[in-house]
Amino acid sequence: MKNINILLIIILSFFYIGKCWSEEVNLYSARKEHLIKPLTDLFEKETGIKVNLVTAKSSQLHQRVLREGKNSPADVLLTTDAGNLWKASNENFFQPIYSELLNKRIKPKYRDENNLWFGLSLRARIIVYSLDRVKKDELKGYKYLSNPIFKNRILIRSSSNVYNQSLIAHMISKYGEDKVEIWAKGLVNNFARDPAGGDRDQIKAIAAGIGDIAVVNSYYIINMLNSDNKGIFDSLGIYFPHDNEMGTHFNISGAGLLLNAPNPANGKKLIEFLASEKAQLIYSNNNFEYPVIENVEIPNDLKRLGKYTEDSTNIYEYGKLSFKAIKLADRVGWK
Ligand code: FE
Repeated sequence: MKNINILLIIILSFFYIGKCWSEEVNLYSARKEHLIKPLTDLFEKETGIKVNLVTAKSSQLHQRVLREGKNSPADVLLTTDAGNLWKASNENFFQPIYSELLNKRIKPKYRDENNLWFGLSLRARIIVYSLDRVKKDELKGYKYLSNPIFKNRILIRSSSNVYNQSLIAHMISKYGEDKVEIWAKGLVNNFARDPAGGDRDQIKAIAAGIGDIAVVNSYYIINMLNSDNKGIFDSLGIYFPHDNEMGTHFNISGAGLLLNAPNPANGKKLIEFLASEKAQLIYSNNNFEYPVIENVEIPNDLKRLGKYTEDSTNIYEYGKLSFKAIKLADRVGWK
């Protein structure tokens, strides 16, 4: 009997060790831990695959993957903005994922054309404006922000930020480089101040009377509406820029499977899970981002922002034009 017990323990230990060894996935995430942890916890619970999570800034993770090279333990890189994903794929970070599930769930416009990365949540770059100093019918598409009527009134962060680089790249894809350069000059002329701070700071600057119109990502607005700062929105309006030529600029957060992933099958499973209905619901409820798959009920917080007309451009186009966008911003003196 004693021998049988010992044998049982040995068999169980082998099973357990085997399970620990094979069923794990290493995730490098530029999303903050509190945003991604509810998703990885659910993934672990549902699949029994342990997620080893490393979180850091997007640029730090990019450098880390480069530094680690072939020996990188990372399976999946999760980051924000099509510009960052494109940069990683351009530097040969990823291997393609052939997944019917991902191709079915995620529209082609939200994923890389060669299946190297997949969008997992959506954010819009939109306008917050002073209700006292701006009439809603004065607002139109992004192009119109360079109109001299907005002289000394526009608030927007630095062009070194990838959100603005992607917006400029998007506009280049719509209007061509020459026209966007003229536009960007006009925009810089309309700045209420030299770019300073992040998106939230632009909203606060309207409330402080420094400018009248701020260009910001949608989730920052909801974060502020759910914070002690919500009072400032009593005198602020929200507008999704669009005109006949260009709808609202949306961007993604997304993920790719790394070229030397030690657990590629589990990496693929994790990305597929993040595109599931359950995970998408958590994304929009916790991060206040729009789901990337259809037919997911968005939380009331997101509905509060209002209706929009999204532009039709494929998001991977932004990446391709990002170098041009950075140089263009430099030329026009957008700091
Ligand atoms: Fe952000």
